[in-house]
Amino acid sequence: MRIAGTLADVTASRLYDALTGLPNRTLMLDRIERAIARARRKSELIFALLVVSLDRFEVLQTQISEREIRTILATAGKRLQQLMRTADTVARLEGPNFAIHLDEIRHVSDARRVAGRVAEALGAPIELAGREFRLSTSIGIALSVTGYERPEDIVRDAFVAMNQARSGGGNRQEMFDQKMQSEVELRMRLEADLRRALERDEFQVFYQPIVSLETWRISGFEALVRWRHPERGLVSPAEFIPVAEETGQIVPIGEWVLRESSRQMKCWQDEHPELDLSISVNLSGRQVAEPDLVDTVARVIDETGLRPGSLKLELTETLLMHHYEGAIQKMHHLRDMGIKLSIDDFGTGYSSLSHLHRFPIDFLKVDRSFVGRVGQDARESEIVKVIVGLGRNLGMQVIAEGVETSEQAGFLRDLECEYGQGYYFARPLDAEAAGALLPHAVRPVESEEGIFLVPRVVDPPVASS
Ligand code: C2E
Ligand code: MG
Ligand code: MG
Repeated sequence: MRIAGTLADVTASRLYDALTGLPNRTLMLDRIERAIARARRKSELIFALLVVSLDRFEVLQTQISEREIRTILATAGKRLQQLMRTADTVARLEGPNFAIHLDEIRHVSDARRVAGRVAEALGAPIELAGREFRLSTSIGIALSVTGYERPEDIVRDAFVAMNQARSGGGNRQEMFDQKMQSEVELRMRLEADLRRALERDEFQVFYQPIVSLETWRISGFEALVRWRHPERGLVSPAEFIPVAEETGQIVPIGEWVLRESSRQMKCWQDEHPELDLSISVNLSGRQVAEPDLVDTVARVIDETGLRPGSLKLELTETLLMHHYEGAIQKMHHLRDMGIKLSIDDFGTGYSSLSHLHRFPIDFLKVDRSFVGRVGQDARESEIVKVIVGLGRNLGMQVIAEGVETSEQAGFLRDLECEYGQGYYFARPLDAEAAGALLPHAVRPVESEEGIFLVPRVVDPPVASS
């Protein structure tokens, strides 16, 4: 008898969330599966799935204790449970996410009305250790009329709608619609294409010059990956890198970029030994989290014969904050090998000023959002000035990204910012065009097709006082 009791317990705990006592994702999926089957037999039956997520939960977690968090989640679960009819199911998914299955609604507006009541119920104050908390929620709604075959799909779509509500600032509800539908399809196709892109050799590295603001010579290039999609043409990394990060594809892609650009740079160095060129390669958070990052870099250096001192790895500020301890250790290892490290997009991550000196960093890259407004906005110029000074005080060299005008280049040179990178000097170029710039000192020239670096025939401008 006792053994039988224990078995029943285990089964139940596989279907219910321990903290709130609510059904969990598995049980919810089972209920939806049945609802899909019923709707298939009687097509006039509509059901809805709501995904309810507490806003700014990550922030809350850093502010109150684990126990208080658990109380808040349990309270939210209880309030949701009280709202529902018996035929409906409330489940706790992972983290701050709940799901509500509304069985047999008559009209789409019913789902919206329930979502409104949910927001209201969870928004009522929660008393905790003498403090009062008010929760706001982002709610995504998906309806069975979309014609789902698998329960996972309606959950996914409700999540897409919830994320839409969240990125709209939270404290709102969104219905999954046609537009989101086509975005999901696009995204799934992109993921599938991305998985095949490496073996099909569809990636190409472009090189953007990094120019010394003192000598006006090219000091090196940043390697920027491009994807030649067989149907869509050139796809921007801003579009596919985030997807590749999520799926993990960025790890092999990033290694390929590192190897290819190191190989190319070694060729350029052999052709122009007098130029002392370096190559900058972006690293993503996923790569930094890989246990064998340091080995991979060492292997590439070994295979390509590149001098470690001419390799600069770029890490963003946000990445460093997310992978704090692990990143610092690996950075020291890379530094010990002679590799240089840059902090990329500086100023856009959340304030890491107090931690900055703990990172072993050689270069600081001022984000182009600041540099781009130099000359238009006095305050922005002031910020650039402060960042350049900060870098200098921490013993780093500073690279300004996104230099687009001669005015900006002049302003930065007067600040004694060491390097500039941007359309004013050159856009990212394929290896052939980039290599063609090398034998000469260069100067930017404007033409109808844009601004190009050309062999320099005059001296660099003298600094204005
Ligand atoms: P990033 O590392 O900050 O690279 C600089 C981006 O600014 C590049 O965009 C470059 O084309 C653009 N840019 C340069 N000068 C100017 C300018 O004067 N004006 C403007 N408006 N933009 C300028 P791109 O090539 O589209 O790359 C975007 C981002 O994608 C990169 O930002 C980087 O974070 C990521 N990325 C690119 N290649 C790789 C890669 O191989 N691995 C990883 N992990 N990320 C990469
Ligand atoms: Mg970069
Ligand atoms: Mg950048």
